[in-house]
Amino acid sequence: MEVDGERSGFPAWEKMESEFAKMDATDPFEAARLRAMVLAYHLKWRGQDCFVQDVERSFRAPLVDPNTGDTSENYERDGKIDAVIMESPGVFYGVEHKSVMGPLDPDDDYWVKLRSDAQCSDYHVGADAIGFPLHGIIYDVVCKPDVKPLSATPEAKREMTIGIGCKACGGGKDERGTGLDHKEASGLCPGCKGDGWKPSGRPRYKAHVRLHDETPGEYGMRCFQIMVAEPDRYLHRRLVVRLEDELMEHLRDDWETVADIDADSRRDHHPRNPDACFVFGGGGCEYRPICWGGVDPLDSPLYQIRKREPVVVETAEEGTM
Ligand SMILES: [Zn+2]
Repeated sequence: MEVDGERSGFPAWEKMESEFAKMDATDPFEAARLRAMVLAYHLKWRGQDCFVQDVERSFRAPLVDPNTGDTSENYERDGKIDAVIMESPGVFYGVEHKSVMGPLDPDDDYWVKLRSDAQCSDYHVGADAIGFPLHGIIYDVVCKPDVKPLSATPEAKREMTIGIGCKACGGGKDERGTGLDHKEASGLCPGCKGDGWKPSGRPRYKAHVRLHDETPGEYGMRCFQIMVAEPDRYLHRRLVVRLEDELMEHLRDDWETVADIDADSRRDHHPRNPDACFVFGGGGCEYRPICWGGVDPLDSPLYQIRKREPVVVETAEEGTM
């Protein structure tokens, strides 16, 4: 899928390269990994014949109660579709680009979750509203190689193979010969030319020993090799479809969710959920002192009121959406 609307050709490489170059200054390894991902992606998907209709397309659509056909006066949907492509005249697909850490297998739960993924359902509703009724969503997933740059092996851990010493000058297994000629004390051993090891028996660093830190280039190449060795685990495109009754259920979910939010906004007391207090951040939720410490946010230096858009629900009458 080409980001510049071209039917084929490499997608705006120069544009991407200038972004990568900026990243080189701050995180050259991540830049190298991303370059590898783009290359592997292109290698797998180049030459796919489709036409890009729109990229990062925003939509707005009314919020409708599917049971009654009522349209909300105070709420509407909005969203953005990564891309809309046309396979053949009138046949449109939405595209969702995702990146995931580590490879995915065909039977991974990741795919099962897409069956009930609200975003995919929302794409259908949104695309309808902007005149692209979708046949489905192409879920385009690039998996990041989950590997870190390698460091040089510390000196103390640089293991060697067992050497075979030169027999002619008194060496043996794991024992170096003298390298001297036995007959002529001043001469070098003709068997090993003074080295003391059998020519093929010199101790070497074991294969896992690294003598220097991996460079960004080496790291990027390793990431690329990982991806192209198993393209079916690192580069996925899956078609996600929604049947009519599934879309109805989605509309119902959304209508009822908004109704809950709307009703909540009129409540004076909001039930506290202690399990959520420490889900985010090391020290727990920043609003914990309000919920559990009796802190009045208007009197506390911990909080300040920031300017915000007026909330529509405050103007809505009770009982109407
Ligand atoms: Zn020798």
